[in-house]
Amino acid sequence: MTTQAGSQCKRVVVLDTSAFLAGFDPFSLGEEQVTVPKVEEEIKRNSMIKMRFETAIESGRLRVKAPSQEFSNSAKASASKVGDSYKLSEADMQLLALALELKASGYTPQIVTDDYSIQNVATQMGIGFLALATFGIKRLLEWIRYCPACHREYSANCKTKECQVCGTELKRKPRRTAKKIEKIT
Ligand SMILES: [Zn+2]
Repeated sequence: MTTQAGSQCKRVVVLDTSAFLAGFDPFSLGEEQVTVPKVEEEIKRNSMIKMRFETAIESGRLRVKAPSQEFSNSAKASASKVGDSYKLSEADMQLLALALELKASGYTPQIVTDDYSIQNVATQMGIGFLALATFGIKRLLEWIRYCPACHREYSANCKTKECQVCGTELKRKPRRTAKKIEKIT
């Protein structure tokens, strides 16, 4: 990361895997955007989001940067202090370390994440974060449609309005085991 005067107080957005999984579009923001090698690894295992990620990298919209050892150590120390270190993956630790390093270089980093442990440690280190809801992205809630009479279930995008079996009008509800934005570990 450069440390020239021009970077003073410049906002930089640090992206977590959950941001990409939730459909965050790097082209929707004007700010400089970075992520870490471990997040890249996680994303490259997911064919759904891999393309958008690679396009953002190729266009120069997004950069992948590994934090230095020094900041990795400081981030680890902060995580242990908060007591959240056991909940954090290697990718999480890299994100926190990179944010810390950017801050030390005069940037104003903001981590985009819905992970409470990352948010806690970021707060401890005096680093701001943005929840995905800030961008109008909600946690992936899976809807299903069901028949209130015979309890058959239909997929949310199913065109029919009535139960194919008993003809009752279908209702909609979130699936119990809603797909949360989980870390791929
Ligand atoms: Zn029915």
